[in-house]
Amino acid sequence: MDKTQYKDIYVFVEQREGAIQPVGIELLTKARELAERSNEKVVAVLLGHGIGSQAQHLIAYGADKVLYVDDPVLEPYTTEPYAQAITQIVNWCKPSVLLIGATTIGRDLGPRLSARLGTGLTADCTGLDISENGDLMMTRPAFGGNLMATIICKEHRPQMSTVRPGVMRAGAPDESRQGEVEAFPVKFDPSRFKVRVMQVVREQKNLVDITDAKVLVSGGRGVGNAEGFKMLKELAAVLGGAEVSSSRAMVDAGVMDHNRQVGQTGKTVRPDLYFALGISGAIQHLAGMEESDYIIAVNKDKFAPIFQVADLGIVGDLKKIIPLVTEKLKK
Ligand code: FAD
Repeated sequence: MDKTQYKDIYVFVEQREGAIQPVGIELLTKARELAERSNEKVVAVLLGHGIGSQAQHLIAYGADKVLYVDDPVLEPYTTEPYAQAITQIVNWCKPSVLLIGATTIGRDLGPRLSARLGTGLTADCTGLDISENGDLMMTRPAFGGNLMATIICKEHRPQMSTVRPGVMRAGAPDESRQGEVEAFPVKFDPSRFKVRVMQVVREQKNLVDITDAKVLVSGGRGVGNAEGFKMLKELAAVLGGAEVSSSRAMVDAGVMDHNRQVGQTGKTVRPDLYFALGISGAIQHLAGMEESDYIIAVNKDKFAPIFQVADLGIVGDLKKIIPLVTEKLKK
């Protein structure tokens, strides 16, 4: 493969019902930073139906160009039309890098694309950088999260990576930025469309996303059981707009739902304030919350690793401390 034919950083910007997903903006911000160093362009790839008006918005967030495909077969998302469209874009445009958000859609699409394009995919990256010779350095936890591996896709292009929502920071829009917007013509092969969406039914409990919360009250094994979590819900209620989340230990115990789990195999969160209550601070948990702006930890073990990332640490029994804090806040 002649790698010199491949250039520019492409970002698949996911939209749902016309709304750009925040991870797309986070990836555009990161791509902009990488492109400044590698002297390349950032191209946003937007797929859907009736989505052309969103393109300008992506330029403000760092794209030099927006390639969009507007077709009824792209709404709602199904694997095959999306895979066909992006495969054609990549084969025609030859990007050096293709970044995808590790959402349910991105996790479905990424492996399909990498297989079709005959290139590698590094999933769930927590860091992206460019080496001196221009290779993308993709860092992700390995061996159960006990070490970080930096992976390079040396022989193939594009270099593909998925990144979970909330891992990269979204930059502010710059409305004065200029860029091109271009419709990309895709020839779909409907004979390969095997799935048709008949109806979309929303699961009520997924309506609150812990990645959107400004304040998270998170509980671990130290909270004990569902009764203990009632105490956390009371604290969250007096804080106004706070959500309750948890470590994996409480999800495995069946006390909390998986969509409330913070960490490597849960969600990556970055709230203004994160309470870690009865959470030891295992590396897999820290991976999902250590970028929070302010961390308050309560743990009865003064050597608990959570205190190494906490801004405020309280050594003591949370069952005594939390009701006192809730009472004080109520007043
Ligand atoms: P523990 O480690 O048991 O800690 C409980 C803490 O509570 C202790 O520090 C204890 O001192 C304190 N405590 C107990 N009673 C009280 C009290 N009354 N008052 C105050 N403090 C008290 N974990 C995640 O959280 N998220 C993930 O996404 C995740 N992914 C993983 C992926 C892999 C591949 C693997 C191998 C593990 C993963 N884990 C994950 C599990 C992780 O390694 C830990 O086992 C888990 O985070 C521990 O949860 P915990 O801190 O609640 O429990």
